[in-house]
Amino acid sequence: MGFFDQLAKLFQPKTPDFSFWVKVKCSRCGEVLTTRVNLANDLSSDYSDNPNADTYYCRKVIVGDKLCFQKIEVELNFNSKRRLINREISGGEFVDD
Ligand SMILES: [Zn+2]
Repeated sequence: MGFFDQLAKLFQPKTPDFSFWVKVKCSRCGEVLTTRVNLANDLSSDYSDNPNADTYYCRKVIVGDKLCFQKIEVELNFNSKRRLINREISGGEFVDD
């Protein structure tokens, strides 16, 4: 990295961390998979139950790298502050560190 790149980086405004990591374990082969949710881009407004809701919704399908091909479906609900309030999974289980 050149000097000016470093300088530019130094003066970059700090961007908030919009990454939300989901760690799941495949129910078929036991493989542990991690996927990233971009809280700035990947969430959609959740109007399904309540038109005034200011909550967000994200659905991810995770497929393992190995030869299992099990689809793990993850559904996440976030509140208006983009904090996780509910989660559901099929095809696997959540792994909490
Ligand atoms: Zn698997």
